[in-house]
Amino acid sequence: MKNKKSSVLLIYTGGTIGMMQDAHSNELRPFDFKSLTKQIPELNKFDIGLSSIAFKKPIDSSNMHPLVWVELAEIIKANYSHFDGFVILHGSDTMSFTASALSFMLENLNKPVVLTGSQLPIGIIRTDGKENLITAIEIAGAQEKGKPVVSEVCIYFEYKLYRGNRTFKYNSSHFDAFRSPNYQALAEAGVNIQYNKSALLKPNGKALKVHLELDNDLVVLKLYPGISQKIITSILNTKGIKAVILETFGAGNCTTQEWFTTELKKIIDKGIIVLNITQCREGQVIQGMYETSSHLKKIGVIGGSDLTFEAAVTKIMFLLGQKITNTQIKKSLQTNLRGELTTN
Ligand code: ASP
Repeated sequence: MKNKKSSVLLIYTGGTIGMMQDAHSNELRPFDFKSLTKQIPELNKFDIGLSSIAFKKPIDSSNMHPLVWVELAEIIKANYSHFDGFVILHGSDTMSFTASALSFMLENLNKPVVLTGSQLPIGIIRTDGKENLITAIEIAGAQEKGKPVVSEVCIYFEYKLYRGNRTFKYNSSHFDAFRSPNYQALAEAGVNIQYNKSALLKPNGKALKVHLELDNDLVVLKLYPGISQKIITSILNTKGIKAVILETFGAGNCTTQEWFTTELKKIIDKGIIVLNITQCREGQVIQGMYETSSHLKKIGVIGGSDLTFEAAVTKIMFLLGQKITNTQIKKSLQTNLRGELTTN
């Protein structure tokens, strides 16, 4: 018996991939997605049913906003039962933030959501967009014994499939724009697509739960040698904040000057969450490994292990948006919710 043809919904948000050079003005403009197969005739050869939705006003992803993540989550929610997989075409600049946000918003995801884009527009001969798009669709439509091979939010770029909430944009001029140093690639596309099955998240069989509430009342304090007390005090006392992401050195270390610890303790006592992540892009925070992080642990700073900056920001927005207590938020920050975190 022939396998059922799988179906994939393509959601075009904007970014370089969907642009064409205007023949007269040479300007890069979003192209009409209805004529997608005209641009990429290879798509007709797929044994995958393809439908598409395009944002009315495609955006450069540097204009990304949590409200757009809500829009995307709503589109997936409304179409979840009609498609086997989803491909989101997105600018690469903030793709890791969107992938991380969606991973938290889509609880119990049992189908693939693959984000992709390109460094060169699809209408340009040397574009990386065609391969990225074609393989992303193939991954989103891949089934084994009637079940999706992948059931998480991922990024496919330049022959590699990554867990979205483990990635960051690393390179603005090479085709391999993303890195995931703290978690292995989920698949590699060569002659065949080789899935790293043991690395993939296992679907839990529960019904999809979509979380649409996000709260962006947070600040980021990136430390550097010589940062002044005046700056730190002003950032930590920003009106209305509920959380601070502290970007520290190495394994989560920072200055032990008393005024700094006192300022931090003051806001923690007021109920503001402080999360410690490292400025290193590989490795993790281990509070208490050095004397220069023990003081943070003592006053109640939460260790962020190997969370990327992108995952930390979106996880906090997601948790602040839930109607849960501070104790639950702190616990969830240290819990691996969607494969974003290594717990020791
Ligand atoms: N600035 C573009 C964007 O992120 C770059 C890209 O598409 O890769 O939308």
